[in-house]
Amino acid sequence: MEKEKRTHKSHCIALPYPSQGHINPMLQFSKRLVHNGAKVTLVPTCFISKSLLGDSGPITIETISDGYDEGGFAQAESGGAYMERFRVVGSETLGSLIEKLKSSGCPVDCVVYDAFLPWALDVAKKFGLVGAVFFTQSCTVNNIYYHVHQGMLTLPLSEPEVVVPGLFPLQACDLPSLVYLYGSYPDFFNMLVNQFSNIEKVDWVFCNTFYKLEEKVVDWMAKICPLRTIGPTLPSAYLDKRLGDDKDYGLNMLKPVTGACMEWLDSKPNGSVVYASYGSFAKLEPEQMEELAWGLRRSNAYFLMVVRESEQAKLPQKFKEETAEKGLVVSWCPQLEVLAHRAIGCFLTHAGWNSTLEALSLGVPMVVAPLWLDQPTNAKFVEDVCGVGLRARADDKGIVRREVLEDCIGKVMGSDGLKEIKNNALKWKNLAREAVDEGGSSDKCIDEFVAKLTAW
Ligand code: UDP
Repeated sequence: MEKEKRTHKSHCIALPYPSQGHINPMLQFSKRLVHNGAKVTLVPTCFISKSLLGDSGPITIETISDGYDEGGFAQAESGGAYMERFRVVGSETLGSLIEKLKSSGCPVDCVVYDAFLPWALDVAKKFGLVGAVFFTQSCTVNNIYYHVHQGMLTLPLSEPEVVVPGLFPLQACDLPSLVYLYGSYPDFFNMLVNQFSNIEKVDWVFCNTFYKLEEKVVDWMAKICPLRTIGPTLPSAYLDKRLGDDKDYGLNMLKPVTGACMEWLDSKPNGSVVYASYGSFAKLEPEQMEELAWGLRRSNAYFLMVVRESEQAKLPQKFKEETAEKGLVVSWCPQLEVLAHRAIGCFLTHAGWNSTLEALSLGVPMVVAPLWLDQPTNAKFVEDVCGVGLRARADDKGIVRREVLEDCIGKVMGSDGLKEIKNNALKWKNLAREAVDEGGSSDKCIDEFVAKLTAW
């Protein structure tokens, strides 16, 4: 396709997978692109866009259809059916959007798409545009899926220890659950492995991590694809302050209970509160919820616990009655503002990659209690590679018991705490800042991308 002479800023479409943990990093990455001189249009699905609250700042919003405008993922018969319909309907509606933007005088140069949606590269190429894939998970986890995709890691696993080039030593159970428990959720497995289906055709590969955090595996992956590290994707108000964001939380699918959380935290001593959250979509077994609740209560620390509305019925009645003295339970909170608060001493997390990176970047020690997907690998990373937390291990039934939680929280929060964990937390916080600050490794990658796009 003949290229027209540029009379406008480089324009990227940013296409996130429609969930909170994917919209957050894509939006913050988009802001950094805008800061470096590009124009960005963020494109959530029609269904998700109806529930997004907040401020997208300088980012324009347009929508496309995933074929489920009334109910999104929940309306589909299966994960596989959802992904297939999204591919077919999304390809068509993304194409129409690109045409619409061109005819309205705002032509698109590049499609930055979530790695879960590899078909977006075909759309970009059909229109002669640059294609950039955005991986929201760690480079370590992506490397594992890459090896599975290439048939270099044969499943089901036959050994208890696994050697993956570029990675630290791993027990099989440290691998993402879909790999370790091969066959457990075939639709999700296919989606994650298919992230690499057209990796050889893509122009740029962005990963939400920073170079020093995953140096060895980043170097390894950079030999097989044009990989750049661009994270951590926190609003600049929390890291380098250069973008003028004012504690910007971006776009929330649930309404945060901000005032009550922050007032409650303000009333607590420094480092005295455990913040507990299992992210935006995990559904806990009722037994696990009960253990979690009593584990927090038994720790004797103050606790701020996020339990989404849809999960609250699983909380034990007696716990609810007793909570007021030591804890606050809310349905959603401004997580970054909470993690950055002086009263927080520890984050009890499921180890979703965003939560992990956020705590790491804000220097908050963690107790990690992973459930599935990439979380076991992230937990290994937190405990053994970065040394910024302890893993609360599940029993044979897969439940993390209250005594285990109490013990881990006690060790991380205790009066002398674990010195090494606290020192490491500070070290990683500083390195995260360095990466996104002017001239840092992630900043340079973003600079290079926008400069090449402008010259393209
Ligand atoms: N989050 C939030 N408020 C909450 C809980 C979570 O804003 O009460 C945000 C959190 O900051 C993170 C995202 O939701 O950016 C969760 O992403 P993560 O990858 O940690 O977990 P997922 O939800 O994908 O399992």
